[in-house]
Amino acid sequence: MVLRSDLSGRACSMARGLDILGDPWSVLVLREVFFGNGRFGAIKAKVQVADSVLTRRLTGLVAAGLLARQEYSDGGRTRTEYVLTPMGEDALPVLNAVAIWSEKHLPAPTADAHMYVVHSGCRQRTGSADTCTACGEPLTAATTSWHSLSRSAQPTGLATAASGAPA
Ligand SMILES: [Zn+2]
Repeated sequence: MVLRSDLSGRACSMARGLDILGDPWSVLVLREVFFGNGRFGAIKAKVQVADSVLTRRLTGLVAAGLLARQEYSDGGRTRTEYVLTPMGEDALPVLNAVAIWSEKHLPAPTADAHMYVVHSGCRQRTGSADTCTACGEPLTAATTSWHSLSRSAQPTGLATAASGAPA
């Protein structure tokens, strides 16, 4: 994430938000943390990005308040993983909207390159970023799953700010 001077300062809320959420790498990093991949190596493996680029995005997302660092023990060594803050969890509808819009308008390059937003409660795909279009329930990180066909046969429940990253 790069905080651009032309988008900050007196810019409107959409421009200020895009200064953070308009960066593709930052959004893909958030995607991984929602998937429960909060560790540097796991994010790097999925996003396929250089260490320096990933480090800059993680530092930027922590500075902006969307992610927090959390220590965990790895065979006696203390390491750091990244978890969502409430502010980061609040970005979920933005990520949902990108996936839903892309599924609607952009052709998938391969048969498994689809990612669907699924309401965990009724297990139906939704066509709306913040409400289940099948049953009308509101969508939160706790009630949303993402079904990435390249990752798993079943939808994956999302991490929340409270849940942190899986052990
Ligand atoms: Zn539903």
